[in-house]
Amino acid sequence: MSTSLFSGELQDVVIVGGGVIGSAIAYFLAAEHGVRATVIERDLTYAKASSALSASSIRQQFSTPANIALSRWSFEFLQRAHETLAVPGDAPPLLSLEERGYLYLATEPGAATLRENHAIQIANGADIRWLDRPALSAKFPWLACDDIVAGTWGASGEGWFDGPALLQAFRRKAISLGVRYVNDEVLGVQLQAVSPYVIGRTSNNQFISKNIVLATGAHVNKAMGDLAVSLPVSAKKRDVFVVESPAQLADCPLVIDPSGVWFRPEGRYFICGAPPRQRDGMPYDPDDAPLDDIDYGLFDEVIWPALAARVPQFEALKVRSAWAGYYEMNAFDHNGLVGTLPGFDNIFVASGFSGHGMQHAPAVGQAMARRVMGHAAPEIDAFTPARVGRGETLIKSREQRALDWDRVRNRQMRGIAGLWRAFWMQRRPAGRKFTTGPKSKDAMLDGHLTSVSLVTGETNAAPHELRRAFPVNAG
Ligand SMILES: Cc1cc2nc3c(=O)[nH]c(=O)nc-3n(C[C@H](O)[C@H](O)[C@H](O)COP(=O)(O)OP(=O)(O)OC[C@H]3O[C@@H](n4cnc5c(N)ncnc54)[C@H](O)[C@@H]3O)c2cc1C
Repeated sequence: MSTSLFSGELQDVVIVGGGVIGSAIAYFLAAEHGVRATVIERDLTYAKASSALSASSIRQQFSTPANIALSRWSFEFLQRAHETLAVPGDAPPLLSLEERGYLYLATEPGAATLRENHAIQIANGADIRWLDRPALSAKFPWLACDDIVAGTWGASGEGWFDGPALLQAFRRKAISLGVRYVNDEVLGVQLQAVSPYVIGRTSNNQFISKNIVLATGAHVNKAMGDLAVSLPVSAKKRDVFVVESPAQLADCPLVIDPSGVWFRPEGRYFICGAPPRQRDGMPYDPDDAPLDDIDYGLFDEVIWPALAARVPQFEALKVRSAWAGYYEMNAFDHNGLVGTLPGFDNIFVASGFSGHGMQHAPAVGQAMARRVMGHAAPEIDAFTPARVGRGETLIKSREQRALDWDRVRNRQMRGIAGLWRAFWMQRRPAGRKFTTGPKSKDAMLDGHLTSVSLVTGETNAAPHELRRAFPVNAG
């Protein structure tokens, strides 16, 4: 259902972008807070929306507790979504959730990182198993493991599902609760000079709202045109290949090869992909590359050799089809930017998920709805866009984590020193001076912004680029 915008009518909440993130927020606002938002969506066919082109897999194998928590909540939501999102009188939504796990494989150089990540995952309640080479061969006998040291496999809470169906389920349920979807494109939003409300302009209208949520995916900066703020988010094309093979891979999970190539079953086919190829020895990943420009060379030169080496049965396969969609890539630290836009109390953003927005949509939608209503939403605190201005990445490199441990140890040492000091101060003769303990390493951390994502293998932007990308109102 689509209606036209009514100029002049004060809205409570306008959500720009009706993909899975915008629709999830709209659903939770209506279901849990009784707020009927207006969703403005420029293309109700979702032809180029990431949510319609997603591989829609869900994992708990992250290196950050905040991401693990979002996945765990979302997975539980997906398990009961056929009931929660059912619309009376309609067939319940069919999300086809397959709980088959991810399998991350590591050769010698990656084993230490895999071990560290595994420790973080199990400490945060994820059901991830450590499999050494003999255990891997026993569980997945079709896998060639000669060069593999170990793998981590999600025994529960990981898998894949029908992402476009989740988008439609959120949308239908939201509409059934009174949310209205308007077919228009937002060209800019700005604060009013004399009132706290936000004014938005579309291609043929204007609207005014108490709150606005930008859930515009990869093109979030375009919608913010009038605000003189930009986020380090851009549209990066990612290709997915559908292959047919007679390979019989019992209990095949989503496998992430050390090369970065991934594959998983999809019905009677397999789907697979890889980070973009280098060109002339340099990373080549332009913004807004055309979606119909599938890089078949990536399959021939990178993916197929890796598949055949890892699964000898993949010697026989053929490409059935391929598609591409945009990751809303956050060049700063490859994670969602979720919360208020720094400097604007009633302008919210949820973008930059960099390849994991589909799986986090339920948890982000629920937390964001609470945040918009002015309530606490600690689940998304770590994803605040303000971290860009502060230069604090969510993902930590191994070196950064080591520094963090140093910091924790220093804090503990300061604690012990404090006790000694208290003890000593009680006994020291009056007038004697006492000097402080070790200094904080925050200043050192400020200089270490580069980190590499385990999944994409891509490096973060340099600090000076980040400051340029986020010049105004960085909080
Ligand atoms: C190939 C591929 C594989 C992926 N695999 C996974 C995966 O396995 N697991 C996972 O969790 N995630 C995956 N993702 C990422 C995931 O799909 C996205 O993170 C998620 O869909 C983002 O949802 P969104 O609603 O923010 O963006 P979108 O779905 O792009 O929705 C944004 C909407 O905003 C609208 N819009 C934009 N600008 C305006 C404007 N100015 N005015 C009005 N409307 C506007 C757009 O038309 C669009 O419909 C994958 C993505 C791709 C492309």
